[in-house]
Amino acid sequence: MGETLMTENVCPLCGHREGSLLYQIRNYAIVRCRSCDLIHVSPVPSTEETSAFYQGLASKPRPGSLRGFKYRFLVWLMGRMTGLRGELLEIGCAQGDLGMVLKRSKRWRYHGIDLEPSLLSVAKKKGLEVSYGGIEDQKFDDETFSAVVMWHVLEHLPRPMETLLEVFRVTRKKGVLLVGTPNIEHRRARAQGPRWKYIGPPGHLSYFTPATLRKMVESAGFKVSFVYGHILKTHMTLVAKKT
Ligand SMILES: [Zn+2]
Repeated sequence: MGETLMTENVCPLCGHREGSLLYQIRNYAIVRCRSCDLIHVSPVPSTEETSAFYQGLASKPRPGSLRGFKYRFLVWLMGRMTGLRGELLEIGCAQGDLGMVLKRSKRWRYHGIDLEPSLLSVAKKKGLEVSYGGIEDQKFDDETFSAVVMWHVLEHLPRPMETLLEVFRVTRKKGVLLVGTPNIEHRRARAQGPRWKYIGPPGHLSYFTPATLRKMVESAGFKVSFVYGHILKTHMTLVAKKT
């Protein structure tokens, strides 16, 4: 256990201020919350720092780890879980890979949101319904969506708990939430420490274990069906329901 730090920002999951220092990367401390174990960055980078960082990456298609078979499997799974056709929201839709798969499925009406205009314009050209901004900017009505997908989004957010509460509000009863994020318990993360490729402020701000991911999603009100995370898997997948 590293030294105890009073963190400059409160823990995004539980609001506690004390963390054990795991790594120091430039001016960012990576700490483990002493109360809930969430690993997070302190301080949270300023908007200027994050926009400069994301501008450097802008317009490159984001790697779709959710292509082909995986997408089709997830679409099948969500259909099974909700038993509904309905509205599906993808937060962080990038160039719209999931939207294209759903177009063929005809089961879901797709809506994507993202913060990168050049990727959104690629998605628009494919005929997808997408809009700019975070979920807080959209002013969706209560219980609009039967499914919400956040694929490699949660770890980037400065206020992930607030975002999940908003996701809960816009999800219909019996609707599902699907989250994908790197797993900090992966054996390579343990072996490589601060050199692990997913440790990267100001891009990644929260680092989840299966337990802390479950805790955060449950704190937002969802009932977690399962977290598929394993020390041999770099990424984990969580499926939750609004009961
Ligand atoms: Zn905490």
